[in-house]
Amino acid sequence: MDVFQFPCLKDNYGVLIHDKATGLTAAIDAPEAEPVRRALKEKGWTLTHILVTHHHADHTQGIEALKAESKCTVIGPKAEAAKIKGLDKTVGEGDTFKFGGTEVRVLDTPGHTAGHITYWMPSETVAFAGDTLFAVGCGRVIEGTMEMMWGSLAKLAKLPGATQVYCGHEYTLSNVKFALTIEPENEALKLRAAEIEKLIAAGKATLPTRIDIELATNPFLRPQSPAIRKRLGLETAADWQVFAEVRERKNRS
Ligand code: ZN
Ligand code: FE
Repeated sequence: MDVFQFPCLKDNYGVLIHDKATGLTAAIDAPEAEPVRRALKEKGWTLTHILVTHHHADHTQGIEALKAESKCTVIGPKAEAAKIKGLDKTVGEGDTFKFGGTEVRVLDTPGHTAGHITYWMPSETVAFAGDTLFAVGCGRVIEGTMEMMWGSLAKLAKLPGATQVYCGHEYTLSNVKFALTIEPENEALKLRAAEIEKLIAAGKATLPTRIDIELATNPFLRPQSPAIRKRLGLETAADWQVFAEVRERKNRS
């Protein structure tokens, strides 16, 4: 399977996945139609599917036009079916389906929105996490509770360490600056901050990321860190409470 990532809107990413054997091509979300069309043309691929992670407009507003011109099959979260126009098939936790020769597993990852899902392809060691997990960050908790969002992040944290994670937005530079205020003594984070600054200065994408890199550097995945707990004065709190405090500080930053 080939994966192609490209910028959309102000700071979104579009992603195309392509199954070489069958010629199937899926867009992960549809932030806007034109960049998806351009990416398809550049790769010489024909759109057959759209896999939607959640209902927000910056992930769905291209669906209608792309579906009208390609007659593609649109798959999206069962729990948000009423909020997404053009869905042909809905999926949720535990569902699996085939994309060409690749098994796709669906994980419920609510919190950013109430029905947000993640598409995980274990044989390709890749996951498409929408606005749940970002590089050195996570999505805002808009429709769910902090506890629910922590549960979703903890689920992603348990994927194999080598899993490549594609995310909805390029927020990494702001995330890494914030992360350094939460865990300034984290050596892996300091090294990563330098790498990210270089990538951004060169106009390059900082995504996809990888689960093991996030486990080492992302403060939202590190509520068990004694240094973070000490800094926040939450030595005996539950993991989700530490996560919630980090998220609230990011909201205010
Ligand atoms: Zn969103
Ligand atoms: Fe978004």
